This record gives sequence, structure tokens and C-alpha cells, in this order.
Amino acid sequence: MAKIRLSGPLISATTTAANRMKIKRAQHWLSLNLGLYVLIAGIELLVGWQTHAAVLLADGENNVTGSFATILLLVGLHFAAKPSDAYHVEGHWQFESLAVFLSGLSMVLVGLNCIWLALRQTWSVWQLGRGTLSGIVLYPAGASAVILLVEAGLNHWQGQRFSDSALLASAQDYFSDAVTSGVTVLALCLTMVTHWPLIDTLSAVGLGSYICWTGGQILSRSAAKLSNGFDPERQVGIAALILTVPGVQGIKAVHGRYVGDSIVLELAIQVAPQLTVTDTVRLRQQLCQRLASQESLLYCWIEFWPS
Ligand SMILES: [Zn+2]
Repeated sequence: MAKIRLSGPLISATTTAANRMKIKRAQHWLSLNLGLYVLIAGIELLVGWQTHAAVLLADGENNVTGSFATILLLVGLHFAAKPSDAYHVEGHWQFESLAVFLSGLSMVLVGLNCIWLALRQTWSVWQLGRGTLSGIVLYPAGASAVILLVEAGLNHWQGQRFSDSALLASAQDYFSDAVTSGVTVLALCLTMVTHWPLIDTLSAVGLGSYICWTGGQILSRSAAKLSNGFDPERQVGIAALILTVPGVQGIKAVHGRYVGDSIVLELAIQVAPQLTVTDTVRLRQQLCQRLASQESLLYCWIEFWPS
């Protein structure tokens, strides 16, 4: 018996090339950002350990999760850029979502650890009291706030320029981390002015909760992509777009799913019963072109039904 040869789906070369470019650019930016994150986190943790400033330690830990998340994203992007093989016929794009999911999970765990440590310190301050904080604690948190704000701006600018969701998401992360550092500066100032160390430890509890909340949001967004869900509004938009193509008489089904930043579609279209196979091949090409002009379409399967 002759050996059966199967070819994979007709993957859009344009979308693949665009995705590769995006990944290259994101990798470049992320490695640049990683160095800064490690530096800021290192200094904050060092000063935090020496001065026992709980909120500074919490902010340092938040920046450690930032570096950790960046490393995970870089690993994920490395795998995502690999070409398709016999096992992954549509490519390895989902590795990016998987990396985002893991980075969200690590954020939640670090946030919980942060809350636990801060609560223990609150207890010990309550029982034993503590000396006043030295002014040195303000510098690392202040520097962190300014640097992260600049990073957020740069990433946002690049993300807007190339409409790259990975860079826009990282800009959002930087902005929230900059705000966290800003709040840290405020809490440290208040602690020094009022000489009430509980402001410091309780703000650390607040920061820990904030890290958990942000991590949870990242987690749920990537889980929605990984679990084969699809935005119903986008589905309706796609159906409306299909109906504008001449020859389409009705739609039986539209099913979409996310693959990284792109989408894959399965469609059941109603056409005139007397169309030939050649006619439907032409119609399929027109449909794919129209859809690719509006969406980042990796490929679509189309089934034709007589109306
Ligand atoms: Zn593979």
C-alpha cells in the first residue's frame, strides 16, 4: 500500500512572517528591560534587608516577579518562533500564551509570600516595636518609580507604533510597577513623618494584595486564550464580514479560536446549490482574503452547504 502523505492546513505566510517580526522585536525589547528590572530589584532588596523597611522589600519582590515574568516570556517567545513540525502543524504560537500564564501564576505566588512576610513583620512590630527608618530607603524606591515610568512610556510608544499586543501589555506592567514604587515612596515618607512603623508593614500587605490581583488578571486573560474560548462580539463581527462577500447566501456556523496573537477560523457557509467545485475554490480564496484584510488570520477551514 502506498504511504499516505498529509499536508497541514494552508497557513497564511503573511501572518506567519508578521508574527515572527513581532516576536523578534519583543525579544529585543524584553532583554533590554530585563537588565533594568534585575538592577532595580537587587538594589531595593539589598537596602530593604539592611533597613528592615517592609514596604521597600515588598516593592523589591514585585520587581523580582517582573524580571521573572520577563525571563518566562523570553523563553516562551523563543519556542513560539519555532517553525511548524509534524506534531505542531499550525506552529508553536501557543507557547507565548503559556509563558504569560506561568508568569501570572508566579506573580500570584510571590504576592501571597509578600503578604505573609508583611503580616509576620506587622505582628513583631506590634509586639516589640521598632526603631525609626533611615532616609536612605527613599532613594531606591524613588529611582525605581522614575525608571519604570520611563520604561512604560517607551514600551507604550513602541507597542502603538507596531500595534504589538505583547509590548502594549508589558507597558501596562511597567506602569503598574511604577505606581507600586510611587506608593512605596509615599508609605515610607508617611512612616518617617509619623514615626508609626505599622504604616510601613500594612502598606506592604496592601502591595502584596495588589501583586496577587495583577497576577490573577494576567492569569485569567491567558487562560481564556488557552482554553479555546472566543469573544462572541468578535464572532458576530466576523459573521457580518463574511456576509458582505458576494456568493455567500447564509452562515451556518462560525467558530474561532486564538493562537497566540492570531486567530484560526472554522466556517460553515451556505451557497447556491448549483455551484461547481471550481466555483467554491474561488469563493474560498475570496473569503480568506476578505477575512485576512481585517483579522490576523493564521488559517481557516471552510465547509460549503447548499442553501
Ligand atoms: Zn513542535
